[in-house]
Amino acid sequence: MRRFEETGAYLKGHFRLTSGLHSPEFLQCAKVLQHPAIAEEFGNRLAEEMKKLAGIIQVVVAPAMGGLIIGHEVARALGVRFIFTERDAEAKMTLRRGFAFEPVERAVMIEDVITTGGSSVEVIELVKSLGASVVAAGSIIDRSGGKADLGVPRVALATLMATTYQPEACPLCAQGLPVVKPGSRPGR
Ligand code: ZN
Repeated sequence: MRRFEETGAYLKGHFRLTSGLHSPEFLQCAKVLQHPAIAEEFGNRLAEEMKKLAGIIQVVVAPAMGGLIIGHEVARALGVRFIFTERDAEAKMTLRRGFAFEPVERAVMIEDVITTGGSSVEVIELVKSLGASVVAAGSIIDRSGGKADLGVPRVALATLMATTYQPEACPLCAQGLPVVKPGSRPGR
């Protein structure tokens, strides 16, 4: 969290999250990961945790865009290859670009932030459907307060309980504060 504060990646205000919920705070992972030395540090720490949880790891998989940088750093620290999933035109999680798994390969799934765990579970199901196994999962931030269940052993470098509001019950909206969608234009 200190790294997020130092790099201005821990934003306070009034945000509309991808889920549609409103929140007084937002962690902009891209802003902390723009510093390769910090990305490397996070990757090393997550790689150590993954080794403790899973033992032998043969590949790291992460969903684009959020998981690209940290997934790559974890794979570098583990000395294994890194592949990423993408959503197709129907928003279905897929593996493209010629990426594939060896049979019964041991994969770990890496994300920047886990909130509900929904997209992480999609990645894990995809990997399993392709014949590999996901032996552990990791993220820089867990915004679920530890509640997100991915069905595999999981670790985060920081666990938070995100404050969120339904838009119609949001006290910040009630104060008339404009809502910002992080990474996009204000009010959108
Ligand atoms: Zn609001």
